[in-house]
Amino acid sequence: MGWILRFINNSRTTVKKRKHFELSSHEIKSAEKVLICIVQGKMFPNFSIPLVNAFKDNEGVIRIKTKLTERKDDPNFIAPILLPSNCILTTRLIEYYHHKHCHAGVQILMSILREKFWILKSQKTVRDVVRRCVRCRRYSSKSPVSDPKRIRYRRKLIEDFRSRFREEYLGQLCQKLLGKVGNDFKIGDIVIIEELSKKRVFWPLGKVIGLLPGRDGKVRTLKIRCKNSEIIRPIQRVYPLKVPIESNENVKFDGVAASSSSKVNDIITHNEVIKNKVSRSGRLIKVPERLGLFNNVLYVFE
Ligand SMILES: [Zn+2]
Repeated sequence: MGWILRFINNSRTTVKKRKHFELSSHEIKSAEKVLICIVQGKMFPNFSIPLVNAFKDNEGVIRIKTKLTERKDDPNFIAPILLPSNCILTTRLIEYYHHKHCHAGVQILMSILREKFWILKSQKTVRDVVRRCVRCRRYSSKSPVSDPKRIRYRRKLIEDFRSRFREEYLGQLCQKLLGKVGNDFKIGDIVIIEELSKKRVFWPLGKVIGLLPGRDGKVRTLKIRCKNSEIIRPIQRVYPLKVPIESNENVKFDGVAASSSSKVNDIITHNEVIKNKVSRSGRLIKVPERLGLFNNVLYVFE
């Protein structure tokens, strides 16, 4: 449009006064105004504007009177130029500002445009343009790609934990089991009970309360007290948890193997600490007084 206007102006003037080279900012501005006037004349013929507070300025541009008239501000901000929503000029303008402001989002773009323009149905219009932006689309399509990446990473962490648990704990456990004989179990032993329906990590804990010998006189089955019940299990289905129970009074565990292993460790250090009378942080520990309420070792099943 700027070039067309220049051509018109140049042809109307003498050869000496003709302009050449790049368009000046004044030329660009008047081109913009001409375009706006064309669009406004087409979209709002005979001033048929759906807004009451619209007026034509002295250049013939339809503007919107805002309540800011008393303030000293940029005239464009006080009386922004009215633009229709469904129009190529509006779309191009929004695109221009969107690119100029580093692919700004809808809200930011709306407030930038509001400095100068009053776009009808502005939110929808701006949103539609931003949605169509190829670069923004490509960028937003990256996030669903990164999500599976995160899920994969989490899965890997869990897998790593599982394999470490298998190798470092259950691996050792199985080695110990190779030489397992019924007579290894004692009443009061804490054991992990195999439950094929569950993952190893979730196998419950129990306490041996009875040793049941087979025909050969060797212990073949165990009577075990679990969280809520008493069960009988063959020794092949039971794994000892190596805890120095002699020193454990009021051992608390939640009945799940995975977390209990760490709890058992806590208990061990706790007992060592009591022996040393110093906590891990170096604080002196008062040895709890024994009330003598229980003569036997007591396990609390939660
Ligand atoms: Zn964009």
